[in-house]
Amino acid sequence: MIEVVKWSQNMQIKNEMKMEFRAVSENEALARTAVAAFVTPLNPTLEEISDIKTAVSEAVTNAIIHGYDGEDGADNIVWLSCRIRNDVLEVEIQDKGIGIEDIDKAMEPLYTTKPDLERSGMGFSFMEAFMDDLEVLSEPGQGTTVHMVKKLGITSWIMNE
Ligand code: ATP
Ligand code: MG
Repeated sequence: MIEVVKWSQNMQIKNEMKMEFRAVSENEALARTAVAAFVTPLNPTLEEISDIKTAVSEAVTNAIIHGYDGEDGADNIVWLSCRIRNDVLEVEIQDKGIGIEDIDKAMEPLYTTKPDLERSGMGFSFMEAFMDDLEVLSEPGQGTTVHMVKKLGITSWIMNE
């Protein structure tokens, strides 16, 4: 007999990690690699790792090129935080850049404010497709926070009694 373990509020936090780095493109690889390493103890599949890396890259790239308009500077910092709750990964990427005026519009597929930079407007769509949940909080002039959730190791949600 099998029992499906459901999401519940009292799921335990198993591990947490926070980092901050300057808004420069070299740090996109740093961020996605750090998150991939962070989830490794949960034995994610290659597909899960690839999904997470893509989503983190998109969010960090957005913080750098949109949030801070591609400008390097000691004050242009991106914050990354990760948490594992049972077999669920939560990732948050935050900038204190220009913020987004209309979040719903920004999240529409193909919407971009930088078509000149060969942006395709698909970043949020990829984050949505590759993760299980995506939430965007933003205030013009204050910055943007992207919160994503990915359930890992779907088989471990099924327990043999
Ligand atoms: P692509 O990701 O395909 O290269 P894109 O970055 O324009 O193109 P999305 O990632 O979907 O597409 O973002 C859509 C729009 O939302 C951006 O063009 C930008 O206007 C806005 N946006 C996204 N992230 C931020 C952010 N961190 N700060 C300010 N604006 C943002
Ligand atoms: Mg983008």
